Amino acid sequence: METKKMWIGGKWVDADSGKTFDVLNPTTEEVLGTVPLGGKSDVDKAVAAARKAFPIWSKKPQTERSDIVAKLGRIMRENIPELIKLETTEHGSPIENASFMANWSSELVEFAAATSRTLMGHQLPATADTLFYILREPVGVCALITPWNAPIMMIAAKLAPALAVGNTCVIKPPSINSLIGLKFAEMLEQLDLPAGTVNIVTGPGGGVGSVLAAHPDVDLINFTGSSETGKIIMSAASSTVKRVVTELGGKNPFIVFEDADVEAASECAVHCLYHNGGQSCASPGRFYVHEKLYDQFAQKVVEKTKRFIVGDPSDPKTAIGPVASGEHKKSVEEYIQSGIDEGATLLYGGRKPVAPLDKGYFVMPAIFTNVTQNMKIAREEIFGPVAVILKFSKEEEAIAYANDSRYGLCASVWTRDTAKGIALANDIQAGTVWVNNHMRLSGETPWGGVKESGVGKESGVFGMLEFTTLKLMGVTLPAPPPAK
Ligand code: NAD
Repeated sequence: METKKMWIGGKWVDADSGKTFDVLNPTTEEVLGTVPLGGKSDVDKAVAAARKAFPIWSKKPQTERSDIVAKLGRIMRENIPELIKLETTEHGSPIENASFMANWSSELVEFAAATSRTLMGHQLPATADTLFYILREPVGVCALITPWNAPIMMIAAKLAPALAVGNTCVIKPPSINSLIGLKFAEMLEQLDLPAGTVNIVTGPGGGVGSVLAAHPDVDLINFTGSSETGKIIMSAASSTVKRVVTELGGKNPFIVFEDADVEAASECAVHCLYHNGGQSCASPGRFYVHEKLYDQFAQKVVEKTKRFIVGDPSDPKTAIGPVASGEHKKSVEEYIQSGIDEGATLLYGGRKPVAPLDKGYFVMPAIFTNVTQNMKIAREEIFGPVAVILKFSKEEEAIAYANDSRYGLCASVWTRDTAKGIALANDIQAGTVWVNNHMRLSGETPWGGVKESGVGKESGVFGMLEFTTLKLMGVTLPAPPPAK
């Protein structure tokens, strides 16, 4: 086990305080590594380095920047075995999911490298004597603050587009996944980047993230995490009117109408629910099922859940690993208890794990029925392997329930009548709505919520545009010479 350093100004450094903290393996609760405990002065150095690098990096030809980002994609591909190992040991991802995350992250980087070469400006036909055109410029120094639920992918999804269009960056990885954050530094070190173009500062949200959010020399915050932290960041960022892109929490409705294919819906339901142990922002947080299909759907979810093996994530048979931390395990367990206390029926699971899973942060899947709209488990984001199944009788009622939430991240509707599905989907307040699928995304698709689920988009071309500023140019043309 080694003690790592942070990456600031193109150098490996300790925290100014000299302090460190341990990163744990959520499966064994053992220490995996030790990393610097960054603080304000470290953030100041990282931001100053990014500021100094900005005029150099942003003035590079687009082809050169895109080539460098493409090389990062290749290096990530070469490092996939190590990325999988880190995602498994530091986040507890089962191997299949870890492999998906490592490959998808590389794909996002490749996508950004290619797409950044295609961004175009516009000419505006406004007045005859002035040429108006729009430039897309990099925003400047970007603080990228990422959550623990998809540690590799979240860094890749932000870093690649930010860098490709000419920004410089300070990354603040989640404390519990600092080793993954610093693995990016190792890969970035192999690129021909001006010193300080990307900096990685490890440390807690309160000590590093909050300093970045309020920092006068940071131009943009791109944050993914909880709605509560998002609000604090937006407020801190307002002091210097920074651009803020926030991808926040969700409590995503999955609505099964009377004419749905229950088999397809329940199969998709369990896959999405247990993917990443339920720790996905897009995970279905509330199942609304028509009363005629309710018992059948719930029974199918129970039967299918039995296929998902909970265990050591390094075992290829495992489908659900531990949740990411002891603190998060406690939170999910409290939600399960609140469902019981508020009178929902615990139809399946939810009991404390037994040996050997009593060590590590394991939470057994739980399936609740007879849930009502005002119960805590129906309103708050649980972020664990917990199915919350509610009943409805009329289509309008289901849509009203779906919209009765402070969140608006994503939703899905299930019906054999696709035209009806599209019409109902139009009435749902969410950044993404699927008809007869859930969580289907790719590098091309933009992602982002409405309401308290966030502001702005990540991924795809729209996500890349968030890292650019539109500048209007108006050039008055010389008067044409008088006709002879
Ligand atoms: P979190 O808000 O606790 O932390 C996210 C990041 O912010 C971490 O790096 C943390 O250290 C940092 N942070 C904490 N306090 C801060 C502060 N005061 N100032 C600045 N930074 C601070 O979130 P989490 O628990 O790591 O992640 C889970 C949450 O993320 C869930 O709500 C989930 O829905 C959400 N999420 C959303 C999306 C999306 O795309 N909408 C994707 C993934 C996760």
